[in-house]
Amino acid sequence: MFNNFNNPNPPNNKQLYEVLGISQSASPKEIKKAYKKKALKCHPDRGGNEKEFKKIQHAYEILSNAEKKNIYDRQGLEGLEHHLNNSGGGGMPHDIFDLFGGMGFNMGGRRHHGPRKGQSTSATLSATLEQIYEGYVKKINVTKKIGCKKCKGTGTISGRTTSCSTCNGRGRVSNIRIMGNMRTISETTCNQCRGSGEIINPNDRCTICKGKKIIQCQKQLEVNISRGINEHEPIIFREEGDELPGIIPGDLIFNIKEKKHKIFERVGQHLFIKKTISLTEALCGLIFHVKFLDGTNLRINVKNTIIKPNQFMRIKNYGMPIDDYGNNGDLFIQYKVIFPSSINSKVQNIIKQILPYTNETNNNNMSNSNIIDVNFTSMTQDEIKNILDNINTGRNQRNQHNQHNQECHVQ
Ligand SMILES: [Zn+2]
Ligand SMILES: [Zn+2]
Repeated sequence: MFNNFNNPNPPNNKQLYEVLGISQSASPKEIKKAYKKKALKCHPDRGGNEKEFKKIQHAYEILSNAEKKNIYDRQGLEGLEHHLNNSGGGGMPHDIFDLFGGMGFNMGGRRHHGPRKGQSTSATLSATLEQIYEGYVKKINVTKKIGCKKCKGTGTISGRTTSCSTCNGRGRVSNIRIMGNMRTISETTCNQCRGSGEIINPNDRCTICKGKKIIQCQKQLEVNISRGINEHEPIIFREEGDELPGIIPGDLIFNIKEKKHKIFERVGQHLFIKKTISLTEALCGLIFHVKFLDGTNLRINVKNTIIKPNQFMRIKNYGMPIDDYGNNGDLFIQYKVIFPSSINSKVQNIIKQILPYTNETNNNNMSNSNIIDVNFTSMTQDEIKNILDNINTGRNQRNQHNQHNQECHVQ
């Protein structure tokens, strides 16, 4: 970060790790484990010190959040507070404007009260439902532009830059035109320094960045995919984009794309599966297993319950994680019951004897003269849907037709 070059004090970014008693390289799992241990020990309900407990909570709140941790690691608590106060973007110290002011970067022609923020870069990470269920950390190498450390962003070996004498370091020159009593003043970019406000002696040019002040670097980011993360929750690394003079680096944003699962379908915090069973199983019960996302096998033992077609069953707390304390959504099983395509009269007679059976022909309330035997065909759900879809299309066409007629009247 460019303004770090002027910062004589390295950020204090160790304190929170010390509170939890872990090293700065601790993984999210280790952080969580340390927190649970410390929190249990210091909980006020167990006679612990409340002040100490709050400190532990505060440390965990920051270190368990990838974005906050990232800022804390680089800039300490002060930097984090600064970011939180300025989460709308902007908010860099104004003196970086003095350093890099008017370097020819397009400021959009408007007067800003702070430096402009660079564009965000986003990337998609695809993850399996199992990975999302467990949560994981993905290390990602990013290539980005940063301020040259060799010359501390000055572009020179000596660290000194000579202010452009043409524009006095402003990067812009004023042109005054006198026309009679009128004076018009216009500003243009200085030709001598091309707007940078400084002249670099070719012999003093930094050998690493060749006077450009910025270099390409590879950086490894640890992207923390938290348990149960949703596709619409972006993981944001604030200001991890390119570091260019005079602008605040844009954000790096990772979006999770959930891979389609063979068995489970996720809807928010809940999981859904479809189970196909026979009519006999629907009536007499069954035992089956579902391989769950954490690798365990769930045994579902249905007995003394009749399963009706399309019926759901709910298994509490076997959905996606909602928090880090074991609270999950639920698992829903939807049953599809396969009926036999035909049964012979022998089976029919047995079933009639066992199951409740009333035959319409036994209903003698109707007078015989009003009865007509009609033909019918069996229809599937899809066939019905097809018919309903066609009704909608027909109506739309008629509406369009009506509108067209109205337009003609207006003309
Ligand atoms: Zn100049
Ligand atoms: Zn350099």
